[in-house]
Amino acid sequence: MKDRIIEIISKYNGDSTRLMDILHDIQAHAGYIDEATIALLADKLTLSAAQIKETVSFYHFYSDKPLAKVNIYLNDSVTANMNGRKDVLKAFEDACGIKIGRVTTDGNIGLFSTSCIGMNDQEPAAIINDRVFTRLTPYRTKQIINGLKQGQHVKELVVEGCGDGNNALPIIDAMVYNNIRRKGALLSHDYPLFTVIKDILPKTSSEEITDIITESNIRGRGGAGFPTGLKWKFGSRAKGEHRFIICNADEGEPGTFKDRVLLTEYPEMVFEGMVAAGYAVGADIGLLYLRYEYKYLLVYLNGILENMRKNNFLGQSIAGIGDFDFDIRIQLGAGAYICGEESALIESLEGKRGEPRDKPPFPVEKGYLNLPTVVNNVETLATVVKIIKNGAAWYNQLGNKDSVGTKLLSISGDCRFPGIYEVEWGLKISDILAMCGANEVQAIQVGGPSGTLLGEKDFDRELSYSDLPTGGSMIVFNKNRDLLSEVVLNFMNFFIEESCGTCSTCRNMPYVLRGKLLKVINGRGVKTDIEDMVNWANLLKVSRCGLGQTAANPIVSSIRNFRHLYDALVQKEIEYDSGFSLETSVLESCKAVRRQPLFHHNA
Ligand code: SF4
Repeated sequence: MKDRIIEIISKYNGDSTRLMDILHDIQAHAGYIDEATIALLADKLTLSAAQIKETVSFYHFYSDKPLAKVNIYLNDSVTANMNGRKDVLKAFEDACGIKIGRVTTDGNIGLFSTSCIGMNDQEPAAIINDRVFTRLTPYRTKQIINGLKQGQHVKELVVEGCGDGNNALPIIDAMVYNNIRRKGALLSHDYPLFTVIKDILPKTSSEEITDIITESNIRGRGGAGFPTGLKWKFGSRAKGEHRFIICNADEGEPGTFKDRVLLTEYPEMVFEGMVAAGYAVGADIGLLYLRYEYKYLLVYLNGILENMRKNNFLGQSIAGIGDFDFDIRIQLGAGAYICGEESALIESLEGKRGEPRDKPPFPVEKGYLNLPTVVNNVETLATVVKIIKNGAAWYNQLGNKDSVGTKLLSISGDCRFPGIYEVEWGLKISDILAMCGANEVQAIQVGGPSGTLLGEKDFDRELSYSDLPTGGSMIVFNKNRDLLSEVVLNFMNFFIEESCGTCSTCRNMPYVLRGKLLKVINGRGVKTDIEDMVNWANLLKVSRCGLGQTAANPIVSSIRNFRHLYDALVQKEIEYDSGFSLETSVLESCKAVRRQPLFHHNA
């Protein structure tokens, strides 16, 4: 084992910033990362054991304990639950004879829960030994477990066959469907691949490329909406021995799956966008950070990079441009929603816990390895290729004055046609609902859990940066859904699970708010609980990053737009209730120290 670990370390040249890859390889080889391995790594990488433990313990898909031969990670997203996850989970538990979070006594099967895996349009879904299973039913679940017990390989259990498009390529071989429902300026197949690299970059200066992007008015498509041209300009002016382009493919916002589809069907455009960004910014290295849940695309994507190298679309003097050297490496994540935040992603790329950095300095000045780094979203990078090809004026015709261009929406939930829709900015929510076949709609969550829950009175609002900005996640809820216990509670659990724990506000307040929410859901709440939730949510605004700052949004936006649901549940006759029961507390503490209470109780 020791020899194998030393081999793995040498494969990455003993580079401690490649710790994520080293840990992936060790986990794949040994099944887990034990104390002895950590000590050896610390010695060879000149890190402390504590630094390595910090990284191992941070990510969902590393383990410091032996896992099973087959590990099932069942998605716990809100849409998974809407589509029968509870029954699927029961079927898994019954068939395996274990509860979730456990491993069977023979060590063969482990059953775990995981946050959104980017399959909201085909739930319930699970990752079983890195292979994605979608549209699970209790019947299929039993078949899978029976197959495993009979010694079948996980791959043989995919009896449904592959999904559509490139998912069916032998190199991907996934039962995932793209579900592309509507194509527009970005998704229409009218672009001869690599035209920008071959024909435009050699004739255009890097400043001119940045000018085209600036004049196009495109803003980052990940959700924050920062002007892309401005970011490139800042990056090109920042001083450093190297500059980096990072493609953020860590889409973890529940309800979002557009990057999955872009990387499956349009990966060349994404990589070409990285090359164009590298040229404009003067970068020599590109890094695509791929979320672990999309590992099934890794070999395929690396194959495309290899072809690009063969054609001199990557490497030295790209397309004959004498001083333009640029190459791309894919870094696999290990399961942490917070790594979608750009500075957390950079920390992760350096092999550390994905904890957001204080800003300033911003990554354009001090990013990866403290050098100038431009971080762009997958959709942004694919789009810039078409903008460079067709011109800024072409792009400005799309969308509306406030928000130009098109946006990819990932639509899921209670609608007939979940999937990917490319729409122009400015579209009304009511049009989106009609487009995806949603009826009897009670609410729509725009922008994932950190976004906003809208009701009927808001259905004439428009997608735009000034009205409803969004990274593209849209989850529809019909009138039969219990918004508080099915939706808001799920989202609060998500934030509690995914907080990195650095800020005391983000570490504690979501728990406190969830406690109040549960009190209301269970019929024990009073009016002041609702006011408390709204007021206490303000405390989260001082958190360091967007996760903490928006962690109360599910509660706050549902109180704002669905106050009647809370009012209907709280006790009318009691105005104030501290929520503190002396008797319960005494009983709990007596239980903790194994003593009998001195008073009589009816519990
Ligand atoms: Fe971490 Fe939350 Fe603080 Fe962000 S706000 S740095 S996720 S603790």
